[in-house]
Amino acid sequence: VAPVHNTEGYLTHFIGVQTDITQRREAEEALQKSEELFRLTFDLAPIGMAITDLSGKFLRVNQSLCDAFNYSKAELLQQSFLGLTHGEDLATDVFLNQQLIKGEINQFQIEKRYLAKGGKIVHALLQVGLLCDREGKTLYLIHQIIDITDRKQMEEKLLHDACHDSLTGLANRAFFEAQVKKAIAKTQQDPEHLFAVLFLDLDRFKVINDSLGHLVGDKLLIAIAEKLSACTSPEDTIARLGGDEFTALLENICDRNEGMQFAKLLLKQISSPFNLEGYEVFIKASIGIVFSSEKYQHPEELLRDADLAMYRAKELGKGRYEVFDQVMHESAVSRLHLENDLQRALINQEFRVYYQPIINLTTNTVTGFEALVRWQHPTKGLISPTNFIAIAQETRLIIPIGAWVIQQACAQLKAWQKQFSLPNLTISVNITVEQIHHNKLVAEITSILAANNLDSRCLKLEITESLMVENSFAANKVFSQLRKREIQLCIDDFGTGYSSLSYLYRFPIDILKIDQSFIRRLTAKNQNSVSVVKTIISLAQSLDMKVIAEGIETFEQLQKLQALGCTEGQGYYFTKPLSSQEIPAYLEKQLKK
Ligand code: C2E
Ligand code: MG
Ligand code: MG
Repeated sequence: VAPVHNTEGYLTHFIGVQTDITQRREAEEALQKSEELFRLTFDLAPIGMAITDLSGKFLRVNQSLCDAFNYSKAELLQQSFLGLTHGEDLATDVFLNQQLIKGEINQFQIEKRYLAKGGKIVHALLQVGLLCDREGKTLYLIHQIIDITDRKQMEEKLLHDACHDSLTGLANRAFFEAQVKKAIAKTQQDPEHLFAVLFLDLDRFKVINDSLGHLVGDKLLIAIAEKLSACTSPEDTIARLGGDEFTALLENICDRNEGMQFAKLLLKQISSPFNLEGYEVFIKASIGIVFSSEKYQHPEELLRDADLAMYRAKELGKGRYEVFDQVMHESAVSRLHLENDLQRALINQEFRVYYQPIINLTTNTVTGFEALVRWQHPTKGLISPTNFIAIAQETRLIIPIGAWVIQQACAQLKAWQKQFSLPNLTISVNITVEQIHHNKLVAEITSILAANNLDSRCLKLEITESLMVENSFAANKVFSQLRKREIQLCIDDFGTGYSSLSYLYRFPIDILKIDQSFIRRLTAKNQNSVSVVKTIISLAQSLDMKVIAEGIETFEQLQKLQALGCTEGQGYYFTKPLSSQEIPAYLEKQLKK
């Protein structure tokens, strides 16, 4: 108490002391209240809370924390926070705690994992702060823990779903490409790092799906995924891109041979039968392989080339693997150019129709022509149809090209019929399966015939045998519509295609064109070939069909055919296919004979 000098001063001092005591009491009460409040908040908090000493040993825990870790209060108080921390998160935790204790930070917040009783992983959002005494000396740590396990699991599931194929559980395209991207980056840093991308496509999967149903098809895909996974090591990635297409990324292979051996193993594994829903299912696959090199910058490039190699494997007979090489690249590039060029050719009218006369072998007169398309390329010259029809088919450009040929050929025929007063001259036009399935074909032909005022009996359509097998139902509908219009149907290259001849009486066929390979072998020495041609002729006669021999090149072949009773033919012996400008002179010469 300070010395008293006067009453006033004393009073003031007394009041001051009084105020001091009241304030202190009030302060203590407030402190008690706030401690009580803290205790209540602590005990009843919906989040886990703990007070630990500076080493992390639990001094006080609340019920929510006990619930999250599945321990009783008594059990928890025997433990330390670090003892419950997931091993992988320990280092960060210790580091941050030390920073906190040293006063370098006031508090920290992290996501971490704990191990609850029984070993279950608890994901938590943790905030740690300091509890100091009145002098500011650090005494305790206060931990606040929000259990985010459910949210984490949901996130993990979403992440998993975004990266995986739901049917097989394998990686999906996005994840696969991301892995390949990482592998490319490794190779760019270390050119020695070799990896392989394999592209696998099942052969005839559609047949299984169509015949045994989608359920069995799905089961097969799952079983294949399991086999593929069983063949690979954990650092490799297997993915399903969709449908029956799978890919594999082989990391850290020593050499190319290892990649090829792996492909062999996959082929072997897949070729052993699968037992699905009581069915024994046999399937094969074709695999394309591409190896890493500096030229690859993007995952799509590797996938594209592995895909190309896979197609090559299919072309070479399926059930095998092929390694991508430069030749494949070049042929793919030139093919792409060809596709673009074909588009342009159609617009620029670069196609030409040539005509090969068809001769009556008994009277030696022209009965008609076969229209044969050529491509007058601006720089490459005249291109044979064998070099572009297949691509025109694949790109479906054959539909407009084919329609154009029919139109040209019909107009041309009409002109020659008039000019030479030969109303019975015929025109044969080759058509493909794509044209047959293009549902406007019959309507188009009908209007072309009408526009040119051409007798429909003068038009013959040539189709190959393979078309008779594929999709026979749809084809038959078109054939009978053509038959109604009296347009004739020829089987082109007869004898080279399908082995079953049952289509001959199922479809309305008028003419068999004996393939030139049989005519070529028609020599005195080759009795077998004579027998084949003889058989075809008598088959045609018995089915009331006509025959035309293709590719007659020599007088000997002509004589043989005449002797066998073949009535019509075409070939270089008479003339090569001629341009439309050359035909009038040719016809004039023929008529003068
Ligand atoms: P194709 O229909 O069997 O036509 C007969 C082919 O044999 C023609 O070849 C013809 O030039 C050739 N040739 C004719 N006589 C002889 C001969 O004595 N000896 C030899 N070695 N060959 C002979 P080209 O014109 O190259 O046509 C090849 C194939 O392209 C045709 O075979 C046909 O399948 C297809 N093609 C031609 N034009 C068209 C068309 O406009 N549309 C469709 N879809 N295909 C066509
Ligand atoms: Mg033909
Ligand atoms: Mg032919």
